[in-house]
Amino acid sequence: MLPRAARQTHTVSPAHAFDSTTLTESEIRGLAARFGSPLLVVDCEQVRRQYHSLKAALPGVDLHYALKPLPHAAVVACLRDEGAFFDLATTGEVELVKAQGIPAERCIHTHPIKRDSDIRDALRYGVKIFVADNPDEIRKFARYRKRAELLIRVSFRSPDAVVDLSRKFGCEAGAVLGLIEQARRMGIRVRGLSFHVGSQAMEPTKYVEAIRACTNLIAEALLAGLPSLDILDIGGGFPVSYNEEVTPIDQFCQPIREALAKLPSHVRVIAEPGRFIAAPAAIAISSVMGKAKRDGRWWYYLDDGLYGSYSGQLFDHAKYPVTTLRHEGELFPSVLAGPTCDSIDVIDDNILLPELEVGDLVVGRMMGAYTWASATDFNFFKRAKVVVMHEQPADAKRVVSLRKAAGGSGRAA
Ligand SMILES: *Cc1c(COP(=O)(O)O)cnc(C)c1O
Repeated sequence: MLPRAARQTHTVSPAHAFDSTTLTESEIRGLAARFGSPLLVVDCEQVRRQYHSLKAALPGVDLHYALKPLPHAAVVACLRDEGAFFDLATTGEVELVKAQGIPAERCIHTHPIKRDSDIRDALRYGVKIFVADNPDEIRKFARYRKRAELLIRVSFRSPDAVVDLSRKFGCEAGAVLGLIEQARRMGIRVRGLSFHVGSQAMEPTKYVEAIRACTNLIAEALLAGLPSLDILDIGGGFPVSYNEEVTPIDQFCQPIREALAKLPSHVRVIAEPGRFIAAPAAIAISSVMGKAKRDGRWWYYLDDGLYGSYSGQLFDHAKYPVTTLRHEGELFPSVLAGPTCDSIDVIDDNILLPELEVGDLVVGRMMGAYTWASATDFNFFKRAKVVVMHEQPADAKRVVSLRKAAGGSGRAA
């Protein structure tokens, strides 16, 4: 099965490669003229930049890119070449990393609730580490005890996070030792603990509390004579700036680094960033299909909307910075609507815009995460076509020739 993400992709040749953060308006017009509208322009250079800035902010932490926010082959391939690890949750995601030649040792499977077929598909690929958070899920691994190891997902509620992921998954801290004991009785090896503080976490406090609690649990497990826990997975959740500025990542991670420094030295720390890597890496280009004045206000109907790339405004509670390429003229309170015949399909019902014309382009920024991934083809409006820029790093040729000179294969590890 070919994952959806692998289809419908166009690659911009180097001559047309632009950085999506610095794309000029004429370049944006050029992309729309060449590839049509709506588009999602994914910039791999931005993916690399985000990956390395988080890597620098969390030294010694292995970053497993969570595919969920932007499960696109080009993103996976570019992170593969940077040496990243991967966080998978479904068989479709397993297929996607497999197609990009990612060694299974660089992957973990973190869905806390799995069908037996999900477990088998991941095991067949060679994934070894899975996540469980309850007795029934642990029982599913009895038959795979020789091939699978577990992380126990602990829940630390985050009412402050934009998306609280500890409501649906994770066990109480007080249940952890009992679950490890249950696994041991069944001959299943528990390797460590994991948590997810919630997506778009605005403060590092929750990570610090969770790391401290896990540090204590690791010590308690040791005292209880349980096998030593040697992995701590601190999840995703790292925030990005949409319309409001968030703390720069290095500063955000400082208290996290301090908390991690208190872990026993044998513990390998991993993280599962998704949004932080994907969100800044894409812009969405759509165009005005039609306009109407209703109750004294201009409504502009775009060819992309809440059922498409802007689906994150519903599912992910995000609000994307949106601009038009028309700057002249008086500004009026206006409505930007999506193309479908559903009245909920409104991107912004009060945005100041000059009067737009049919065919004008509208650009959404910070649209890499939880946008195209959750888009639908509702009403037969096809989701945006993906255009990939900077698939190869600017200095790729140089790196390859250096590796060759050093006797390497010329391929990134
Ligand atoms: C969604 C998810 C992630 C990614 O979270 P972000 O907030 O996008 O960084 C990581 N791990 C798990 C288990 C997830 O479900």
